[in-house]
Amino acid sequence: MYKIMTPGPTQVKESIRLARAKECTNPDLDETFIEFYKETCELISRLLHTENETLILGGEGILGLEAACASLTEPGDKVLVLDNGVYGKGFADFVSLYGGEPEFYTVDDKNPIDPKALEEFLRENHKYKYATLVHCDTPSGMLNNIHEICPLIEKYGILTVVDSVSAMFGEEVDVDRAGIDILCGGSQKAVSAPPGLTFVTISDRAKKVMAERKTPIASFYANLKVFEGYYEAKWFPYTMPISDIYGLRAAFDYIEKDKDMLCRHARIGNACRKAIRDAGLKLYLEQGFSNTVTVFEVPKETTAQDILTVMRTKHKIMLAGSFDSLAGQVIRIGHMGSNANEKDMKETMEALEQTLKSLGIGLKCSLKDRFCELMD
Ligand SMILES: *Cc1c(COP(=O)(O)O)cnc(C)c1O
Repeated sequence: MYKIMTPGPTQVKESIRLARAKECTNPDLDETFIEFYKETCELISRLLHTENETLILGGEGILGLEAACASLTEPGDKVLVLDNGVYGKGFADFVSLYGGEPEFYTVDDKNPIDPKALEEFLRENHKYKYATLVHCDTPSGMLNNIHEICPLIEKYGILTVVDSVSAMFGEEVDVDRAGIDILCGGSQKAVSAPPGLTFVTISDRAKKVMAERKTPIASFYANLKVFEGYYEAKWFPYTMPISDIYGLRAAFDYIEKDKDMLCRHARIGNACRKAIRDAGLKLYLEQGFSNTVTVFEVPKETTAQDILTVMRTKHKIMLAGSFDSLAGQVIRIGHMGSNANEKDMKETMEALEQTLKSLGIGLKCSLKDRFCELMD
């Protein structure tokens, strides 16, 4: 077995895996499950600091992003796509699929979106139905400041759709303070449950916009309106993946008790980045580092594939390369959720140090020793 130090899926604690083995009932007919589902949704809303309703959808992270776009977009709608990374840009595909007209606000992918510059852009350009934004753009590890950016957009009556799949619970998310209309999360990132589920929080404003559509939502599975009144009617639009939801609940019960979660991510993220830099390696970003993932450039003397292969075969640790324009360029260490612990990170840094040395890369200091010093 490998130690999975990737930026999602992450390692999954045994208690969470075992929760999925609980005896099943018929989730369509058994009211105890409908109560359990609703309670779990309310727990997620609470942990994300929002009065907005949460829905858990039966599909992994991408379904949440698509459902948000499918449910809001009518043919011809203009949508502002904030883009400083692969997922940022990718939102435009969902907008187009449902007949919308994406307009990009594209900035340099090594720095977070600057709220001041965006504010200026919005002063001249604000005829959009909604805007999309990624909290942590995982392929580069870019963290955007959702709490500053979303209120600027809201000022013009533009709805916001935020993908925080790989940031939430490793980075602060306060949905109501930011005024986010639809926030998307996933089970397999910092939540550290197995992949398979997505959840969304939906504001009353977003619900009103969906209710007032002139055209029907061009999807069933990605239609957030099909859940309307599910609790009162004791009826789900499709059979819920009950075992996955038992696992997800166990993961959230764990998060609810873990008061140190954000601080721990910050300590580990900081120590990892500093150790990488002090050893003479180059971080991909200039600013805007997410505490859930560290991304560094592949040294010229070797390849991403070689680093990943030695880590996997010799040290039984899985790191990730990246994709799209970053394929082959960088290595990613996922220190989110249950990966964010000192012991696994020490082992990872030690293995990475040996791997790089074996590939002929000279380091200016020991990655592991430096990481340990910085954690003290
Ligand atoms: C992981 C992730 C998703 C979920 O989709 P995948 O199918 O795992 O790619 C969505 N958005 C972001 C930013 C993610 O990191």
